[in-house]
Amino acid sequence: MIAVIKQGTTDKQLENLSNWLKAQGLDVHLSKGSSHTIVGLVGDTSKIDAELLESLDIVESVKRISEPFKSANRKFHPDDTVIGVGNTSVGGDIFSIIAGPCSVESEEQVMAIARAVKEAGATMLRGGAFKPRTSPYDFQGLKADGIELLLKAKAETGLPIVTEIMNANHLPLFEDVDVIQVGARNMQNFELLKELGKTKKAILLKRGLANTLKELLMSAEYIMAGGNENVILCERGIRTFETYTRNTLDLSAIPLLHELTHLPVIIDPSHATGVSRLVKPMALAAAAAGADGLMIEVHNDPAHALCDGAQSLTPDAFGEVCSSVKKVLEVID
Ligand code: PEP
Ligand code: MN
Repeated sequence: MIAVIKQGTTDKQLENLSNWLKAQGLDVHLSKGSSHTIVGLVGDTSKIDAELLESLDIVESVKRISEPFKSANRKFHPDDTVIGVGNTSVGGDIFSIIAGPCSVESEEQVMAIARAVKEAGATMLRGGAFKPRTSPYDFQGLKADGIELLLKAKAETGLPIVTEIMNANHLPLFEDVDVIQVGARNMQNFELLKELGKTKKAILLKRGLANTLKELLMSAEYIMAGGNENVILCERGIRTFETYTRNTLDLSAIPLLHELTHLPVIIDPSHATGVSRLVKPMALAAAAAGADGLMIEVHNDPAHALCDGAQSLTPDAFGEVCSSVKKVLEVID
């Protein structure tokens, strides 16, 4: 349920209303937007007398929210959410470019790629330290050492770092990580999501291999229900019957998610296609469709990458993507 507040309402009046609603056992979310202040209510709102609420002097209107996602709902928070991450932010008018290797392999590798992607225009560095691999015999990542190497690259380049968590027990290792990624395979690991909800970290939540947008939003809601509103959504392609691509990029997710939620939406054309030559056209399409950013895998030696070489761009190819994306953004503005 939301209550739209009349203009001219004082902070004191708003606080009194919040306290009265909290006393009825509800969670109260305040959103002071550019045009309206909205009071969002989560919990058992059946006890609330909507007519009584609407009759209050400071209340303009009251609406019930039919969707099961509340905190993530655009109706709760009409303005775009902008999430501060290190020296940059994600969402709103900012276009974020997260780039780096699928997995951190060595100090030389991650430092070289970090310098190159920064030079080319990346705003954040990615790199997997804990890798969710289909085969237990494949490289599983450098784990804690991988995070240390990312932190070294961050110290030198100033780029905030993004890396994936697979187990909530590893959270202490992520203390200096700027954005914690929840990979597609863990999108519905609800216990992990609940633990991340107790932190204040920015969370990059990737859409599951075969999940609907509603399910993605419900997973975001798990994190937000715990008190962490810093959720970035990431479309990375879904499983279809097509085999020329690793997944099928659902570009319509961008405008749809922008309608449904205030959270930033970024696109990962690398995992969506699995093919390096398809990354640029899909990155341009995503920028044109209104994405808040991109996540692109870049490797200094794709042919010898320990993971996802076939979809990784060289630093030069990544530089070309960045300059073309910039042109698209200028045209659509
Ligand atoms: C990744 O970003 O390296 C990754 C494993 O992605 P996804 O979870 O989308 O497969
Ligand atoms: Mn990968």
